[in-house]
Amino acid sequence: MSLSDKVALVTGGGSGIGKAIAKALLAEGCKVIINGRNEEKLEQAKTELGSNVESMVCDVTDEGQVENTFSSIISNYDRCDILINNAGMAAKAKAHEMKYETWKKVINVNLNGAFLCAREAMKIMIKQKSGRIINIGSISGQMSRPENAAYTASKFGLEGLTRALALEGRDHGIAVSILHPGNVGTDIWKGREEIAEREGLIPLEDIGKLAITMLSMSPNVNILGSVILPITQPYLGRG
Ligand code: NDP
Repeated sequence: MSLSDKVALVTGGGSGIGKAIAKALLAEGCKVIINGRNEEKLEQAKTELGSNVESMVCDVTDEGQVENTFSSIISNYDRCDILINNAGMAAKAKAHEMKYETWKKVINVNLNGAFLCAREAMKIMIKQKSGRIINIGSISGQMSRPENAAYTASKFGLEGLTRALALEGRDHGIAVSILHPGNVGTDIWKGREEIAEREGLIPLEDIGKLAITMLSMSPNVNILGSVILPITQPYLGRG
Protein backbone atom coordinates (compact mmCIF):
# COMPACT_ATOMS: atom_id res chain seq x y z
CA MET A 1 0.00 0.00 0.00
CA SER A 2 1.34 3.45 -0.91
CA LEU A 3 2.06 5.73 2.04
CA SER A 4 2.13 8.86 -0.12
CA ASP A 5 0.24 11.79 1.49
CA LYS A 6 -0.60 9.77 4.63
CA VAL A 7 -0.57 11.90 7.79
CA ALA A 8 1.72 10.38 10.44
CA LEU A 9 2.48 11.37 14.04
CA VAL A 10 5.75 10.08 15.49
CA THR A 11 5.97 10.63 19.26
CA GLY A 12 9.48 11.32 20.49
CA GLY A 13 10.38 11.99 16.85
CA GLY A 14 13.07 14.54 17.71
CA SER A 15 15.78 11.92 18.21
CA GLY A 16 16.91 8.33 17.81
CA ILE A 17 14.45 5.72 16.58
CA GLY A 18 11.58 8.22 16.25
CA LYS A 19 13.63 10.52 14.05
CA ALA A 20 14.77 7.58 11.90
CA ILE A 21 11.16 6.45 11.39
CA ALA A 22 10.11 10.06 10.62
CA LYS A 23 12.86 10.19 7.98
CA ALA A 24 11.69 6.92 6.42
CA LEU A 25 8.05 8.12 6.38
CA LEU A 26 9.08 11.38 4.69
CA ALA A 27 10.91 9.40 2.01
CA GLU A 28 7.61 7.59 1.31
CA GLY A 29 5.82 10.92 0.80
CA CYS A 30 4.02 11.12 4.16
CA LYS A 31 3.16 14.33 5.96
CA VAL A 32 4.96 13.88 9.24
CA ILE A 33 4.42 15.44 12.65
CA ILE A 34 7.03 14.84 15.36
CA ASN A 35 6.53 15.63 19.02
CA GLY A 36 8.48 15.63 22.27
CA ARG A 37 8.99 17.86 25.30
CA ASN A 38 12.18 19.60 24.19
CA GLU A 39 11.50 22.31 21.61
CA GLU A 40 15.18 22.82 20.78
CA LYS A 41 15.60 19.11 19.99
CA LEU A 42 12.53 19.19 17.74
CA GLU A 43 13.81 22.29 15.89
CA GLN A 44 17.17 20.60 15.33
CA ALA A 45 15.41 17.49 13.98
CA LYS A 46 13.27 19.64 11.67
CA THR A 47 16.40 21.23 10.22
CA GLU A 48 17.73 17.75 9.50
CA LEU A 49 14.47 16.25 8.19
CA GLY A 50 13.39 19.11 5.91
CA SER A 51 10.34 21.27 5.32
CA ASN A 52 7.70 18.50 5.08
CA VAL A 53 7.85 17.86 8.78
CA GLU A 54 5.96 19.73 11.49
CA SER A 55 6.86 19.66 15.16
CA MET A 56 4.56 20.00 18.15
CA VAL A 57 5.81 20.31 21.72
CA CYS A 58 3.92 17.74 23.78
CA ASP A 59 4.53 15.70 26.90
CA VAL A 60 2.76 12.40 26.12
CA THR A 61 2.03 11.87 29.82
CA ASP A 62 -0.13 15.02 29.92
CA GLU A 63 -3.70 14.20 28.85
CA GLY A 64 -4.52 17.80 27.90
CA GLN A 65 -1.36 18.22 25.80
CA VAL A 66 -2.03 14.95 23.97
CA GLU A 67 -5.63 16.00 23.24
CA ASN A 68 -4.35 19.36 21.93
CA THR A 69 -1.82 17.63 19.66
CA PHE A 70 -4.55 15.57 17.97
CA SER A 71 -6.90 18.59 17.73
CA SER A 72 -4.10 20.50 15.95
CA ILE A 73 -3.50 17.54 13.61
CA ILE A 74 -7.20 17.52 12.68
CA SER A 75 -7.23 21.33 12.23
CA ASN A 76 -4.14 21.24 10.02
CA TYR A 77 -4.59 17.99 8.06
CA ASP A 78 -8.17 16.83 8.69
CA ARG A 79 -7.03 13.25 9.32
CA CYS A 80 -4.47 11.03 11.05
CA ASP A 81 -3.49 7.82 9.27
CA ILE A 82 -0.47 6.63 11.24
CA LEU A 83 0.62 6.84 14.86
CA ILE A 84 4.10 5.70 15.86
CA ASN A 85 4.03 5.43 19.66
CA ASN A 86 7.77 5.77 20.15
CA ALA A 87 8.35 8.21 23.06
CA GLY A 88 10.03 6.31 25.84
CA MET A 89 12.70 6.19 28.52
CA ALA A 90 14.72 3.63 30.43
CA ALA A 91 15.95 3.60 34.05
CA LYS A 92 18.56 1.22 35.35
CA ALA A 93 18.07 0.20 38.99
CA LYS A 94 17.62 -2.93 41.07
CA ALA A 95 13.93 -3.29 41.98
CA HIS A 96 14.60 -3.32 45.73
CA GLU A 97 16.56 -0.08 45.41
CA MET A 98 14.31 1.68 42.90
CA LYS A 99 12.57 4.87 43.97
CA TYR A 100 8.81 4.72 43.46
CA GLU A 101 9.14 8.02 41.55
CA THR A 102 11.45 6.32 39.02
CA TRP A 103 9.03 3.41 38.58
CA LYS A 104 6.10 5.78 38.04
CA LYS A 105 8.04 7.98 35.58
CA VAL A 106 8.95 5.04 33.33
CA ILE A 107 5.46 3.50 33.38
CA ASN A 108 3.96 6.93 32.79
CA VAL A 109 5.93 7.69 29.61
CA ASN A 110 6.24 4.20 28.12
CA LEU A 111 2.75 2.89 28.87
CA ASN A 112 0.36 5.67 29.96
CA GLY A 113 1.68 8.02 27.26
CA ALA A 114 1.25 5.33 24.60
CA PHE A 115 -2.31 4.70 25.80
CA LEU A 116 -3.24 8.41 25.69
CA CYS A 117 -1.89 8.85 22.16
CA ALA A 118 -3.50 5.63 20.92
CA ARG A 119 -6.84 6.61 22.46
CA GLU A 120 -6.87 9.98 20.69
CA ALA A 121 -5.65 8.46 17.41
CA MET A 122 -8.31 5.74 17.52
CA LYS A 123 -11.11 8.31 17.98
CA ILE A 124 -10.04 9.79 14.63
CA MET A 125 -9.25 6.47 12.93
CA ILE A 126 -12.65 4.98 13.88
CA LYS A 127 -14.35 7.88 12.06
CA GLN A 128 -12.02 7.37 9.05
CA LYS A 129 -12.54 3.59 9.20
CA SER A 130 -8.79 3.19 8.69
CA GLY A 131 -5.46 3.75 10.39
CA ARG A 132 -2.30 2.08 11.62
CA ILE A 133 -0.64 2.30 15.01
CA ILE A 134 2.83 0.92 15.69
CA ASN A 135 3.93 0.78 19.29
CA ILE A 136 7.69 0.71 19.75
CA GLY A 137 8.21 -2.08 22.27
CA SER A 138 11.54 -3.71 23.04
CA ILE A 139 12.92 -7.20 23.41
CA SER A 140 12.81 -6.26 27.11
CA GLY A 141 9.07 -6.69 26.59
CA GLN A 142 9.79 -10.38 25.99
CA MET A 143 12.88 -11.12 28.10
CA SER A 144 14.14 -8.99 30.99
CA ARG A 145 17.63 -7.63 31.51
CA PRO A 146 18.96 -7.31 35.07
CA GLU A 147 18.21 -4.02 36.87
CA ASN A 148 15.44 -3.18 34.45
CA ALA A 149 12.13 -3.88 36.24
CA ALA A 150 10.24 -0.69 35.40
CA TYR A 151 11.27 -0.69 31.73
CA THR A 152 10.53 -4.41 31.37
CA ALA A 153 7.11 -4.06 32.99
CA SER A 154 6.27 -1.05 30.81
CA LYS A 155 7.19 -2.90 27.60
CA PHE A 156 5.32 -6.08 28.60
CA GLY A 157 2.39 -3.75 29.29
CA LEU A 158 2.75 -2.26 25.83
CA GLU A 159 2.49 -5.77 24.35
CA GLY A 160 -0.81 -6.21 26.21
CA LEU A 161 -2.04 -2.79 25.11
CA THR A 162 -1.16 -3.65 21.50
CA ARG A 163 -3.20 -6.86 21.58
CA ALA A 164 -6.20 -5.18 23.24
CA LEU A 165 -6.18 -2.30 20.75
CA ALA A 166 -5.67 -4.60 17.75
CA LEU A 167 -8.76 -6.51 18.88
CA GLU A 168 -10.80 -3.31 19.24
CA GLY A 169 -9.44 -1.91 16.00
CA ARG A 170 -10.37 -4.84 13.82
CA ASP A 171 -14.05 -3.83 13.50
CA HIS A 172 -12.94 -0.40 12.30
CA GLY A 173 -10.22 -1.15 9.75
CA ILE A 174 -7.50 -0.15 12.23
CA ALA A 175 -4.29 -2.19 12.47
CA VAL A 176 -2.34 -2.01 15.72
CA SER A 177 1.04 -3.66 16.01
CA ILE A 178 4.27 -3.69 18.00
CA LEU A 179 7.86 -3.43 16.82
CA HIS A 180 10.37 -4.86 19.29
CA PRO A 181 13.95 -3.65 18.67
CA GLY A 182 17.06 -5.09 20.25
CA ASN A 183 19.92 -2.64 20.80
CA VAL A 184 19.91 0.52 18.69
CA GLY A 185 22.62 3.16 19.18
CA THR A 186 20.65 6.12 20.55
CA ASP A 187 20.64 8.48 23.55
CA ILE A 188 18.79 5.85 25.58
CA TRP A 189 22.18 4.11 26.01
CA LYS A 190 23.87 7.17 27.59
CA GLY A 191 26.16 5.89 30.31
CA ARG A 192 25.76 2.24 29.18
CA GLU A 193 27.35 2.52 25.71
CA GLU A 194 29.81 -0.30 26.48
CA ILE A 195 27.00 -2.90 26.76
CA ALA A 196 25.40 -1.85 23.47
CA GLU A 197 28.74 -1.88 21.66
CA ARG A 198 29.67 -5.31 23.04
CA GLU A 199 26.31 -6.86 22.14
CA GLY A 200 25.96 -5.18 18.73
CA LEU A 201 23.73 -2.43 17.40
CA ILE A 202 20.99 -2.25 14.77
CA PRO A 203 21.54 0.60 12.29
CA LEU A 204 18.76 3.20 12.63
CA GLU A 205 17.92 2.94 8.90
CA ASP A 206 16.96 -0.71 9.41
CA ILE A 207 14.35 0.27 12.02
CA GLY A 208 12.96 2.78 9.51
CA LYS A 209 12.81 0.10 6.79
CA LEU A 210 10.99 -2.34 9.07
CA ALA A 211 8.44 0.28 10.14
CA ILE A 212 7.73 1.09 6.47
CA THR A 213 7.27 -2.62 5.69
CA MET A 214 4.77 -2.97 8.54
CA LEU A 215 2.90 0.16 7.44
CA SER A 216 2.80 -0.78 3.74
CA MET A 217 0.81 -4.00 4.06
CA SER A 218 -2.52 -4.32 2.24
CA PRO A 219 -5.27 -2.56 4.22
CA ASN A 220 -6.70 -5.90 5.48
CA VAL A 221 -3.30 -7.22 6.64
CA ASN A 222 -1.50 -6.55 9.93
CA ILE A 223 1.97 -7.64 10.99
CA LEU A 224 0.95 -7.91 14.64
CA GLY A 225 4.48 -7.97 15.99
CA SER A 226 8.06 -7.97 14.79
CA VAL A 227 11.42 -8.47 16.46
CA ILE A 228 14.61 -6.96 15.04
CA LEU A 229 18.00 -7.81 16.52
CA PRO A 230 21.71 -7.52 15.88
CA ILE A 231 22.83 -11.07 14.97
CA THR A 232 25.28 -10.90 17.88
CA GLN A 233 22.84 -9.80 20.59
CA PRO A 234 22.58 -12.28 23.49
CA TYR A 235 18.84 -12.99 23.56
CA LEU A 236 18.04 -16.48 22.34
CA GLY A 237 19.10 -19.72 24.02
CA ARG A 238 20.98 -20.37 27.23
CA GLY A 239 24.56 -19.57 26.30
P1 NDP B 1 15.87 8.55 22.61
O1 NDP B 1 16.19 8.93 24.02
O2 NDP B 1 16.70 9.08 21.51
O3 NDP B 1 14.36 8.90 22.27
C1 NDP B 1 13.35 9.00 23.19
C2 NDP B 1 12.41 10.09 22.70
O4 NDP B 1 11.25 10.12 23.53
C3 NDP B 1 13.05 11.48 22.78
O5 NDP B 1 12.94 12.13 21.54
C4 NDP B 1 12.27 12.21 23.88
O6 NDP B 1 12.10 13.57 23.51
C5 NDP B 1 10.94 11.45 23.81
N1 NDP B 1 10.24 11.50 25.10
C6 NDP B 1 10.65 11.03 26.30
N2 NDP B 1 9.73 11.31 27.24
C7 NDP B 1 8.72 11.95 26.61
C8 NDP B 1 7.48 12.49 27.04
N3 NDP B 1 7.08 12.43 28.32
N4 NDP B 1 6.68 13.08 26.12
C9 NDP B 1 7.06 13.17 24.83
N5 NDP B 1 8.22 12.68 24.36
C10 NDP B 1 9.03 12.08 25.25
O7 NDP B 1 15.88 6.94 22.62
P2 NDP B 1 15.43 5.85 21.54
O8 NDP B 1 15.26 6.45 20.20
O9 NDP B 1 16.33 4.73 21.72
O10 NDP B 1 14.00 5.41 22.11
C11 NDP B 1 12.81 5.45 21.35
C12 NDP B 1 11.94 4.25 21.73
O11 NDP B 1 12.60 3.05 21.33
C13 NDP B 1 11.66 4.12 23.23
O12 NDP B 1 10.31 3.75 23.41
C14 NDP B 1 12.58 2.99 23.65
O13 NDP B 1 12.10 2.29 24.77
C15 NDP B 1 12.56 2.11 22.40
N6 NDP B 1 13.67 1.16 22.28
C16 NDP B 1 14.95 1.60 22.16
C17 NDP B 1 15.99 0.68 22.04
C18 NDP B 1 17.41 1.08 21.89
O14 NDP B 1 18.30 0.21 22.00
N7 NDP B 1 17.72 2.34 21.62
C19 NDP B 1 15.72 -0.78 22.05
C20 NDP B 1 14.34 -1.11 22.20
C21 NDP B 1 13.36 -0.17 22.30
P3 NDP B 1 12.07 14.77 24.59
O15 NDP B 1 13.26 14.58 25.48
O16 NDP B 1 12.12 16.00 23.74
O17 NDP B 1 10.77 14.66 25.31
